[in-house]
Amino acid sequence: VFLKNIEAKGFKSFAEKTRIEFNKGLTAVVGPNGSGKSNIIDAIRFVLGETSARSIRGSKMEDVIFNGTVKRSAENSATVTLSLDNSDGVLPVNEDTVKVTRILYRSGESEYYLNGGRVRLKEITELFMDQGIGKSAYNIISQGEVDDILSAKPEDRRAVIEEAAGVVKYKHRKRESERKLEDTKQNLDRVHDIISELE
Ligand code: ATP
Repeated sequence: VFLKNIEAKGFKSFAEKTRIEFNKGLTAVVGPNGSGKSNIIDAIRFVLGETSARSIRGSKMEDVIFNGTVKRSAENSATVTLSLDNSDGVLPVNEDTVKVTRILYRSGESEYYLNGGRVRLKEITELFMDQGIGKSAYNIISQGEVDDILSAKPEDRRAVIEEAAGVVKYKHRKRESERKLEDTKQNLDRVHDIISELE
């Protein structure tokens, strides 16, 4: 699965409908300071369901909506769509192209769409979580995080690598299974108690 393109309208500096195409392999985005390079990354985080305004460099979520310039008035909503190539079937959606859209209104309300159909944020999160794509999966390393990772304690750095490698998901499942096993053991003990009382 790979990102084919991003379409943004009314999102940060992308007032007009803007489409950014990506190819397989490495893509570098170059441009002067303040030209909107990081806004592209913010747009990706936004669609993946980012709920923290700070993570997309705003003080409140509505800050991502195009706020107007001298020449152009502000927009009332921000829309971003990610198109992913799913011809390898990695995402559990029966389509070769998976389109995920988020619309944010000035009221603070968000709408999410998966291939045109309205879905809840939970469905978007679950769609990506098992593929190691998501807002906390270290697919996106921001400028500050590079420093944090380099200066982190070895245990913390290990946690980052484990998260990126997708180990955390299994650790979580292991903990769940251990808890169930413990519950079952306790139930079994209780059954044994009852049996011995009856005997
Ligand atoms: P640098 O190299 O300095 O990191 P950059 O190319 O990554 O720069 P960004 O930080 O992505 O640039 O873009 C910042 C630009 O986006 C600024 O010009 C800012 O005015 C504009 N911008 C951010 N939010 C909005 C908004 N809500 N409406 C309009 N413009 C916005």
